[in-house]
Amino acid sequence: MNKFEALGFNNAIVKAVTELGFESPTPIQEKVIPVLLTGNTDLVALAQTGTGKTAAFGLPLTHLVDFTSRETQAVIICPTRELCMQITRDLQSYTKYIDGANIVAVYGGASIDNQSRDIKKGAQIVVATPGRLCDMIDRRRVNFSNVRFAVLDEADEMLNMGFKEDLDTILSQTPEEKNTWLFSATMPDEVLRISKNYMEKPVEITAGTKNSGNDNIEHIYYVVQARDKYAALKRIADSNPDIFAIVFCRTRIETQEIADALIKDGYGADSLHGDLSQQQRDHVMKRYRARSLQMLVATDVAARGIDVNDVTHVINYNLPDEIENYTHRSGRTARAGKTGTSICIINMKEVGKIRIIERIIKKKFIQGTIPTGFEACEKQLFSLVKKIHNVEVNEAAIEAYLPSIYDELKELTREDIIKRFVSTEFNRFLDYYKNAPDLNANTSRDRERSNSTPGITKLFVNLGELDSLTSATMKEYISEVSGVDIASIVNIEVKSSFSFVEVKTESAEIIQGTFKNVRYNDRNVRIESRGDSGGDRRSSGGYEGSGNRRSSFGGGDRKSYGNRSDRGGDRGGYRGNSGGERRSFGSGERKSYSDRSNGNSTGERKSYSDRSESGGYSKGNSDSGERKSYGDRSERTSSRNTGNESTGGDRKSNFSRERRPRKQF
Ligand code: AMP
Repeated sequence: MNKFEALGFNNAIVKAVTELGFESPTPIQEKVIPVLLTGNTDLVALAQTGTGKTAAFGLPLTHLVDFTSRETQAVIICPTRELCMQITRDLQSYTKYIDGANIVAVYGGASIDNQSRDIKKGAQIVVATPGRLCDMIDRRRVNFSNVRFAVLDEADEMLNMGFKEDLDTILSQTPEEKNTWLFSATMPDEVLRISKNYMEKPVEITAGTKNSGNDNIEHIYYVVQARDKYAALKRIADSNPDIFAIVFCRTRIETQEIADALIKDGYGADSLHGDLSQQQRDHVMKRYRARSLQMLVATDVAARGIDVNDVTHVINYNLPDEIENYTHRSGRTARAGKTGTSICIINMKEVGKIRIIERIIKKKFIQGTIPTGFEACEKQLFSLVKKIHNVEVNEAAIEAYLPSIYDELKELTREDIIKRFVSTEFNRFLDYYKNAPDLNANTSRDRERSNSTPGITKLFVNLGELDSLTSATMKEYISEVSGVDIASIVNIEVKSSFSFVEVKTESAEIIQGTFKNVRYNDRNVRIESRGDSGGDRRSSGGYEGSGNRRSSFGGGDRKSYGNRSDRGGDRGGYRGNSGGERRSFGSGERKSYSDRSNGNSTGERKSYSDRSESGGYSKGNSDSGERKSYGDRSERTSSRNTGNESTGGDRKSNFSRERRPRKQF
C-alpha cells in the first residue's frame, strides 16, 4: 500500500501522487499531514523550501476541499509569481483525477481580466501573490466569504518583501472561523506576530532546526582577492563540469554584468533581476529549467520562489546584505532529499561574516581552495571521457562514414586513437589554462605551505598516467633526458594527464632547460616551475579571464559562436546533445539575446555590456514588458525599485575593476 493511502487520502489523490513518484511522505509531510487532515486546526510550520512543504499543505487541502462546489474555499498566498505558478501546477497535478477541480493562479504581470474570468468559472482554490490579490479584492473580482482555509507560504519572505499590509487586507476579507496554515523557513518576530494575530492556538511543527539550513548542504568558502572573484567563479564552474547553479549577486547591474561576461566567455548563463519584465523572466526560467543554462545569475529578490530541483550549487558571488538571506539562498539547492553545495566567494575581510553565518545556520563552513587550472583541466578531461563513454551512437547516421574513418585511422592502435581523440579537446583546454594563476588569496596558510620545503622546487610536467608513466619511470625519464642525478628528484606525484615533480632547486633550471623541444610520444613535453603558473602570476600577466574558454575546450568551432548576428533564429552552434540531458562544458544555448538589433517586447532585451547601443534605449517601464537601459544612469533613479533589491548604485563593483586587465590580452 502506498504510504499516502495509509495517511487517509482518497483514491484519486493516492493515484496522482503515485504517478508523481511519491512513495513515502517527507519528514515535514509526516508531521504536518495528519494534523491538517483533521480539518480543523491552525498551523505554524517551520520548513525550508525543497522539503516537500507544498505537498504537506497541498495534499490535505485537495482532500478537504469540496470540488463538487464552485465556491472558492481556499486561498494560498505566496511571495512570488514563480512560486505561485509552481504551487498551482503542483496542486493541479494532485487533483488530476478529481472531476471539476479548478485551481487558479493570480499574480501580477498578467491579464487581471483573464484571471478574474478563470475565478468566475468556479475556482475552489486560488493561489495568489499578495499585490495582485489585493487589486482583485479592490475591484471586487473575488468572493472569499466561503473560504475555509488560508495558507501563507514563505511567510517570512512575504514580510521581507513588504507585504504585511496586503496580508492584513487579504486575511480580513476571509471568514474568521477559517483555518490558517502558515509556512516559513525562518521565524522572525514579525512572523510570530502574524500567527498571534490571525490564529487560534496553532499547532507548531518544525522540520529541521529553527533558522538552520538543510543538513544536505555543504557550505564552502573561498578566499580570493577582490579582483579575482570573477576568475574564481569561472574556475569553480570549470572544475564542476556538471554544474547547474544559481549565482547570487547583490545588485541588478552586477547581476547583468556577470551574466553578460559569462555568456561572452562561453558559458550557458543568463540573468534574473528586477529590471526584467515578467516575460523576460519567464523566458530565462524556462531555459534554466530546461537546462539550456548552466548558471542563473540572480538577485535575491528575483530568485525568490525559484523552485528548480537538482540545483547542484548555490554560489554567493557576494554575501547577502541580510545574513538571514543566506538561508534562503542556500535553500535553492539540496531540494527533495538531494545534496548540494553552497559556495561563498569572499575576500579576506569577509571571513568574519562567514563566522556570523555559521552561528546563524548552526553549520560549519569548509575553507576551500580554488582549484588550479590543471585541476580544472583534469575535471574537464574526465567529464569528456565520461561523455564519450555514455554517448548514444546514431548507428544509422554514422554507418555510411565508418569505412572511410576506419581506413583513415587504420595505422593507429586503440590507445593512440583514444589519446588523440581526447587530445583534440584536451589540448585546447590545457592551452586555455596555460599560465592560469593561483586564485587563492595568499592567506597565512598558503604562505606556510609554499615555504614549507626550502631548497625544493616543484615542477609541472604535462605527462602522466595517460602516457603510461609511473613515478618510477617518470623519474628515470627525467633524469635520463636532463642528465641530473636521479637522487635530486625527491618526489613525484603522477596524475592522470600531468605530474608534479619536486626536485632540488639547483636541478630545476637544468631540467627545464634540457626539456625545451623534447617530444614524448609525438607530443612536446612541457615542464614549468609551479611558480610560473601558480606563484604570483599577476606579475607574469597570465590573466585567465581572456578569451572564450569554451572555444578552447569542448566549445567546438569558435566560428559557431563568434559571429553573434549569425545566431539569430536557430541553435546552430549548439554542441550539446538534445533531449533531457544538460549540456555541460562547451554547450549552453546563448542565442536568445544575441541579436540585439531585434529588441522587442516579447522577451528580448538589450545587454548592458553594450553601452553605446543601450544608451538611447529607454522605453516603457519594467512592469510593462520592457526595461530601462542602464546605459544612461540618470534614468535608473526613476526605475522601479523592487523591495530591497538594490538598483545597483554601487558601481564600484569588484567586477568592473577586474574586467579591465582582460582587455590587455
Ligand atoms: P517543495 O518543498 O514543496 O518545493 O518540494 C520539493 C520537491 O520535492 C518537489 O519537486 C516535489 O515534487 C518533491 N516531493 C514532495 N514530496 C515528495 C515525496 N513525498 N516524495 C518524493 N518527492 C516529493
